[in-house]
Amino acid sequence: MNVVLPDNSELELAGGATGLDAARAIGPKLAEQAVLIRANGAVQDLRRPLEDGQSIQILTTRDTSDPDALYVLRHSAAHLLAEAVRRLYPGVKVAIGPPIENGFYYDFDFPEPLREEELERIEAELNRELKEGREWTREEISRDEAKARFEQEGEPYKVELVDTADGQITLYTQGDFTDLCRGPHLQNSKPIKAVKLTGLAGAYWRGDSDKPQLTRIYGTAFYSKEDLAKHLERLEEARKRDHRKVGVELDLFHLDDISPGSPFWHPKGMVIWNELEDLRRRENRNRGYDEVKTPLIYDQKLWERSGHWDKYREHMFLIPEKDRVFSIKPMNCPGHMSLFASQQRSYRELPLRYAEAAPLHRNELAGTLHGLTRVRHVTQDDAHIFCSRDQIEDEIFGCLDYAAFLYDLFDMEAVFELSTRPENMLGTDEEWDFTEGALQSALDRRGLDYHLNAGDGAFYGPKIDLHMKDVLGRSWQMGTIQLDSQQPGRLGCSYMGADNSEHVPYVIHRALLGSFERFIGILIEHYGGAFPFWLAPVQIRVLPVGEAHTEGAHAVAAKLNQHGFRADVGEATETIGKRIRSAELEKIPFVVVYGDRESEDSLAVRERGGGQSQESLADFAARLATLAS
Ligand SMILES: [Zn+2]
Ligand SMILES: [Zn+2]
Repeated sequence: MNVVLPDNSELELAGGATGLDAARAIGPKLAEQAVLIRANGAVQDLRRPLEDGQSIQILTTRDTSDPDALYVLRHSAAHLLAEAVRRLYPGVKVAIGPPIENGFYYDFDFPEPLREEELERIEAELNRELKEGREWTREEISRDEAKARFEQEGEPYKVELVDTADGQITLYTQGDFTDLCRGPHLQNSKPIKAVKLTGLAGAYWRGDSDKPQLTRIYGTAFYSKEDLAKHLERLEEARKRDHRKVGVELDLFHLDDISPGSPFWHPKGMVIWNELEDLRRRENRNRGYDEVKTPLIYDQKLWERSGHWDKYREHMFLIPEKDRVFSIKPMNCPGHMSLFASQQRSYRELPLRYAEAAPLHRNELAGTLHGLTRVRHVTQDDAHIFCSRDQIEDEIFGCLDYAAFLYDLFDMEAVFELSTRPENMLGTDEEWDFTEGALQSALDRRGLDYHLNAGDGAFYGPKIDLHMKDVLGRSWQMGTIQLDSQQPGRLGCSYMGADNSEHVPYVIHRALLGSFERFIGILIEHYGGAFPFWLAPVQIRVLPVGEAHTEGAHAVAAKLNQHGFRADVGEATETIGKRIRSAELEKIPFVVVYGDRESEDSLAVRERGGGQSQESLADFAARLATLAS
């Protein structure tokens, strides 16, 4: 048989040849360094047979930052962790241990609770295994054999996994540890040059709070020690920038169990919020959106019609009344569609773009809440665009253009993902060909690179998800642009077409920043609290050197405020050095020191990051005006 190599050349192999055989046919060095095969784009264990005509790519220990190559390395490291834990803690039961973004974990049921300090000992055992060296073998066995084997080993979680696994049951063995696992795995442990256990957490078996609580050990592994060091540095930087910590230090917001997942916004946090809200309003106006306001609570009947009652009820806060049940809205769509449906519409009104940033409530499980990035009180920069079939592409293009404008403003690199028809799609293939095509041509027209997520669309239509990369290189899901051909009809939306007959409009659901809560959380980490001038809660702090300069300092601050800037005065209650230091900690963009030598003709200005200058109030204000726009 023949397989196709990345340079399009063909490689002839014996029938039944594996990925490893293909590597050997090319060269012994490649075979030694091979870690994984990509066959027709899908990852495959080196030990598995190839098929005639497949395009293959052999990943090696040199693909140190390839996500698939890292996955296989980390998956193998997770198995080494399980081996180590079983040796050190007799009686422990193993559950599951997958690779994840940036590392891996393994869940265990320990006879005695595990303490954080013990991770060091486990890591030492893991390193001992690496030094000794391990080889992985793969075997395919029957379900009954696998069950008998894990029953005999006293591994109830594995027995349950065998029961629910689909397809061929495979086992991977290294050292004295055999795991039920689909793979793929490394050939041996040599490529694992650095491993680190990073933390402990509780996790329910199968994520179900009615099931036993297990102990999850997190770790990570790399193809080189330098890569691990870089990763740990980034983690440390991320910890320093954690918005939950920085947000409290900068007095922006706090959270309280009195209303879980619902931030209390402090005056300084509200400044940032309002700047984003102004941006949203201004840009919506420029781009032909109409602001609307729709109710916060609706009768159950509406949610039944929209389909939320069936699919989303457990996440909705309900308000029972005497003879009706209401719900606080978890999203704006049904309200906007009710508004559209309230009048007889004509094709001449389309496209109609309704925008609203209403507070939404989603009853997320308490255990999943996280600072501002996972909340129950959600305020989306939401809009719904009602349009006809032939307007879809232009409207999607408009959304993409808007998104690119916003991400540019925050110096964030945007990544776009197109998700296409899922298995449970509604509507015909022909219809999906058209809608997917419209989204694709809008992306192409805007010249955007995008990833294709085949099969990941919503059942009612394809979508484009917007991700942003922050300064630490972390990717965040932000907004989404979704085309919907189902809900509008269910909620009675229609318009009179040019052909004098009634049509159901398409609706584009789109939120570009995502939610204000989450976006501000991400901004805090992206900027490490040092917001650009236009977003900074306090833009200028004026510091009188001594009591005698208080009046002059207040006059300067007042004039800056009259120019539309946010200036305050740091009263002379402490030494000037201490107050300069505290303005730096608050990451205020400009500090004006006002003493004997200063006047409105000559101010001593210190810029965040080190610059110093002596300039008149008028010149300073003119310079600030260029930063504010
Ligand atoms: Zn595994
Ligand atoms: Zn919507």
